Amino acid sequence: MGKTTSINLVGRDEFEVIMGVFARCTDDYLFLFDLDKDEYIISEKILEKFDLPGNHFFHAGTILEKVVYPEDMPELSADLEKLKSGMSQEHNMEYRWVDREYKIVWISCRGVVIQDRTQEQKTKILIGRISEIGSKRKADNVTGLFAERQLLLDFEKLKADESYKNGVVLRIGVDNFKEINERYGMETGDAVLKMIAQCMELVRGEKDRCYKLDGDEFVLLMEGDNIQKAREHYHTIRILIEEHRKVQGYRNFYTISAGIVGFSYDKTDSEKLHGYSEFALSMAKKNGKNCSYIFTEEDYEEYVKGIKIQEKLRYAVNHGFLGFEVYYQPIVSSTTREVVGAEALLRFYSREYGMLSPGVFIPILEESGLIIPVGEWVYQTAMRQSIIWQRLMPEFRININLSFIQICKSDVVSGIMASIGELGIEPSTVLFEFTESGMISYDDSVQRLLDVLNENRVKIALDDFGTGYSSLAYLQNLRVNLLKLDRGFTSKAVVNDFDYNLIGHIVTMAHSIGMKVCFEGIETEEELQKLQKLEPDYIQGYYYGKPVNSESFYHSHLRKFEKAS
Ligand code: C2E
Ligand code: MG
Ligand code: MG
Repeated sequence: MGKTTSINLVGRDEFEVIMGVFARCTDDYLFLFDLDKDEYIISEKILEKFDLPGNHFFHAGTILEKVVYPEDMPELSADLEKLKSGMSQEHNMEYRWVDREYKIVWISCRGVVIQDRTQEQKTKILIGRISEIGSKRKADNVTGLFAERQLLLDFEKLKADESYKNGVVLRIGVDNFKEINERYGMETGDAVLKMIAQCMELVRGEKDRCYKLDGDEFVLLMEGDNIQKAREHYHTIRILIEEHRKVQGYRNFYTISAGIVGFSYDKTDSEKLHGYSEFALSMAKKNGKNCSYIFTEEDYEEYVKGIKIQEKLRYAVNHGFLGFEVYYQPIVSSTTREVVGAEALLRFYSREYGMLSPGVFIPILEESGLIIPVGEWVYQTAMRQSIIWQRLMPEFRININLSFIQICKSDVVSGIMASIGELGIEPSTVLFEFTESGMISYDDSVQRLLDVLNENRVKIALDDFGTGYSSLAYLQNLRVNLLKLDRGFTSKAVVNDFDYNLIGHIVTMAHSIGMKVCFEGIETEEELQKLQKLEPDYIQGYYYGKPVNSESFYHSHLRKFEKAS
């Protein structure tokens, strides 16, 4: 307990004048609180934001109750009691006020008790300043929660405290928040954020703390290592939101996603934790939204690797497609057993990761939109190569894969037709392969592409048939020329009678409506012998050759034609 300073304080009127001068030099509100007389003087500009009866009033205790957030009143009263009783001489609290628009405003209030010797009875006076924490971005004025800056400060504090070993971060984001603002207005958007903040406050444990990050995201910083608890909190918050929506008469609709990260204080810094929780939430959204995702190091490393690969892919695209190479896998006629063409399959080589398979980099190209320039490069390269090989084998056919992204997000059909024209390749020797997922959710751009390709005699194949749900009748409507049966399907048929018979029927039906069939992924003589009986038109698989670069393809499959010609 320190000693109280005694001064000869100027009169109240002069004090107000001095305060007015200082108030022009700071955003803070300066105040004088006579604890014994319950008299309060504060910078006049506070009246712009808070509903006080004036900047100089008595019965301060009762009046302040009207602006202080009710939940914080007991703590404030207790602190003031200590000042009045002389138990403490300094006041330093962060708590909430409610402004004229009933919004919560976090304030930091600091002051020192002095004794005014000019008064007959030496009264205790608290002199200090109030600042809005929100304006320094330590708190969020829409929800009343602490903001990210405070999260960082608290994290550092807990990290330094030896008694805190582990923590869990539950990071919550509103799904499609932008849409909510656009559709229902900003006010609804704010109400949604407030609602979530309240729900989080309701579920949190005593030692947990809630924060509002920029945009539509929140963090619950939990003590301990109970990840399941975080998951339960997320589910409870969802239930509370749903109940609230019911009470409100279903005026709006929104869902929330959550990323959950368990961590130890000694192995994590705030930046890392921020990155982890950001990633965890993005995974929940990627998994379809309205769900939670629990962080794992392995997933994160894969994600970081994905980002690095994406950088390398972008670099390659901007440097003449360096590192990309088109490989070719033979497609064989099942009657003559001769090579009739090849499927162009993309490869990417990076010094750090070696030769990458399309399973790794095609999704990254698609996500980043890089599939559009790369896809164009693939069909041009493959067509150019095919023209060279057609000099040896005029009927040589080239199969090229097209991604759904190329179809929907670029005018790929114009690009294809322009390239066919410029290169002078016979259109009927070119075939484009689509996967079922692309076809199923087809829209106008898919229909236009198929129409233009059909009109120009360019062929169309449905790739990986058997992994989705397309019906043959539907495919006939789309005028698909070739069905490619996936290895997942054909390999089962070798050991399973049901699949074997099913494939047999598919081949018969496809033929009856004028479609050809290619079996993919034939690896062994045994597979070939058995499946050959089902009379497919073409076979593609390691048995006849793995995908290889153009030079190897030429040596293995085409050189013999050179000798003959
Ligand atoms: P896909 O179009 O179905 O290509 C056939 C895949 O099966 C190729 O894998 C090929 O190497 C593999 N394969 C062929 N025969 C056998 C076999 O006997 N056994 C086994 N186990 N596998 C066999 P790859 O080259 O890894 O390509 C994977 C997928 O990546 C392709 O499947 C295709 O969907 C996609 N892809 C490849 N290149 C491109 C491209 O240029 N553009 C687009 N959009 N996608 C591509
Ligand atoms: Mg394919
Ligand atoms: Mg396939």
